[in-house]
Amino acid sequence: MKDQAVIDGHTDVLLALIQQRRKFFEESDKGHVDFPRMKKGNVIAAFFAIWPGINQYHIQRGTQQLLELVEEPKNNAMFIKKPNDLEKAEKEEKVGVIFHIEGIGGFDTELHFFNILYRLGLRSIGITWSDVNIFGSGSSFDPNTPEDTRGITSEGRELILEANKLGVIVDVSHLSDKSFWDVLDISKKPIIASHSSCRSICPVSRNLTDEMIHALADNGGVMGINFGNMFLREDCRSSNDTPFTKIIDHVDYVKNLVGPDHVAFGSDFDGTGVPTEVKDVTGFNKLVAEMEERGYSNEDINKICHGNFIRIFKKVWR
Ligand SMILES: [Zn+2]
Repeated sequence: MKDQAVIDGHTDVLLALIQQRRKFFEESDKGHVDFPRMKKGNVIAAFFAIWPGINQYHIQRGTQQLLELVEEPKNNAMFIKKPNDLEKAEKEEKVGVIFHIEGIGGFDTELHFFNILYRLGLRSIGITWSDVNIFGSGSSFDPNTPEDTRGITSEGRELILEANKLGVIVDVSHLSDKSFWDVLDISKKPIIASHSSCRSICPVSRNLTDEMIHALADNGGVMGINFGNMFLREDCRSSNDTPFTKIIDHVDYVKNLVGPDHVAFGSDFDGTGVPTEVKDVTGFNKLVAEMEERGYSNEDINKICHGNFIRIFKKVWR
């Protein structure tokens, strides 16, 4: 793996390509992510989220878009289905696409659709997108909405065990606190919080408490710091004058709490407003420079940029 190469835990580029009418292979000044800018930002792979996954139609539509994106030779993209694929992508100078669905309310409870999608390359799932579905309940964005206390259902338990068996990563970002703890109880494999920051710094329910971060570390899991302004700032506002260094403040916080093995980046690019100073996916260069500035060892920078996610791939995927 290239030194300081980045694996990004979450991008909504699929949706942005449609909404902003742009092509993945063309460098754009719109949005955050495309192939040329990923190259400039030294990003070798990312979790490409299909959003929303609230019903089967949305998942089918997103899956077709993702398959077409990977099949188009001009996009220089390939699926990452096993850890070795990363080296292949690097050698062929392609970007790695990790097939992720954000909220799987569209899955049937007999898990036929899940198994079919696994065969098409699905390697990571978020159980809900802050909503309530048959498998579990999500976190609310609104601090005034009381937390849903139902947690993971019996159908959700079967789904998590099937994910463990198939070799699909379970992502706890967007889950309610009760669901988070249930997933940790049920899953026999390490989990991720693909795009969640620290609640001690920015008190929104989408972020993880210190207790959750400790539990995630004990599970061998990884959290990807979310670059969304509203997930970074002490005042939780979405204004984009947030200093980009705030992202590294969150990395620092996790590193000081549980060590460097459990923190990574989950930008949420093309899905949320990020600090103006970060601009887009090329901003990873600034973040790496900031970690160097703060005296991080190269070993730790590599763990945070890609090593920690690769550890999860090796533990969870078959
Ligand atoms: Zn999200």
